[in-house]
Amino acid sequence: MSELIYNSDIKRITTFNVSANAACIAYYDTLDELKLLLADRSLPRPIKHLGEGSNMLFTKDFPGTILISRIDSHEIIDIREDGSVLVKASAGVIMDNLCRDLALKNIWGLENLSGIPGTVGASVIQNVGAYGVEAGDLIVQAEAVEIDSAETVTFSHEMIDFGYRHSIFKTEEMRDRFIITAVVFKLSSKPKPRTNYANLQSLVGNNPSAIEMRNAVISIRDNKLPSPAIVGSAGSFFKNPIISQQHFDKIKALFPNEKVPHFIIGDDEIKLPAAWLIDKAGCKSMTQGGASLWYSQPLVIVNISGNATSHDIIELEHRIIKCVKSQFNITLYPEVEHI
Ligand SMILES: Cc1cc2nc3c(=O)[nH]c(=O)nc-3n(C[C@H](O)[C@H](O)[C@H](O)COP(=O)(O)OP(=O)(O)OC[C@H]3O[C@@H](n4cnc5c(N)ncnc54)[C@H](O)[C@@H]3O)c2cc1C
Repeated sequence: MSELIYNSDIKRITTFNVSANAACIAYYDTLDELKLLLADRSLPRPIKHLGEGSNMLFTKDFPGTILISRIDSHEIIDIREDGSVLVKASAGVIMDNLCRDLALKNIWGLENLSGIPGTVGASVIQNVGAYGVEAGDLIVQAEAVEIDSAETVTFSHEMIDFGYRHSIFKTEEMRDRFIITAVVFKLSSKPKPRTNYANLQSLVGNNPSAIEMRNAVISIRDNKLPSPAIVGSAGSFFKNPIISQQHFDKIKALFPNEKVPHFIIGDDEIKLPAAWLIDKAGCKSMTQGGASLWYSQPLVIVNISGNATSHDIIELEHRIIKCVKSQFNITLYPEVEHI
């Protein structure tokens, strides 16, 4: 049965551990309950759907209703002769649980996304990615309900227009218009280990199982990233910027004795790790009130004191952007959604 909580601290439903008031938080357990909630004009507006709140920073109180799905189910819907396996998961499923359950069945595809906080629904919106895999590479379809009409719509992979931490649902026109209710992933029963990122190859050796890949990914992540259960954060705070070859040559010239990390992603498009820029700009030890950068991954702003305010975090964000801009003429943009 749906559950409504009025005037509640957003801290309990987000991972940054920063306080703000939500006028209403509404949990639902079925799609019919979701549709009833959408039709209920007495609920405070606007409507915002959250998963685990692991990519969110609420900069002030939220006057509307935050919807959260408690629908937690997934099933294999097709196994094809070529080895492909179609898996349908409800949007409320915790992504890491899905990664674990499928790796245990030796179904390949999601293992490199192990350990990323958040839900299946948000993986579509965010096109989550890690260690050479993006959710969008594997998503063939997403089912959704339009907030205004409560009508069901199916989006194909092509319609979603996945990009780097991007989907159509992040555009001005589509933002907060649809609620993702289920996602279909095309996975594989044939081993497909992707070991060419970080030191995965050395950890798993040859012919690893899917669960060995998952465990290796988690061990790398645990060494590098703060667990939201211990330190508040929303993961990587900034996107990795994309610059031109000419701009990249200028940056390389500043470090003649160093290999500047980069990924060539297109004609005249070079992606630089924002963490490297933050480090080289000398921002790594910056603090602001209760907020600082995580010692082993400066791309992550953490609520180190447990008492950081959104103001602390935004001040720190602006100082970092200014510092990187002045040193490298590159503007960093946040990956974390600000409300
Ligand atoms: C420690 C840490 C490590 C992280 N590492 C990674 C990483 O390696 N790679 C990566 O890509 N991200 C990473 N993240 C970011 C985060 O985990 C992802 O962005 C994740 O997809 C967010 O999921 P969520 O369910 O918490 O979404 P939320 O933060 O609750 O929401 C994110 C956005 O999705 C929307 N949304 C959520 N559910 C739905 C739905 N059902 N329908 C419509 N809209 C919806 C929200 O409105 C919001 O706009 C990390 C975060 C943390 C805290």
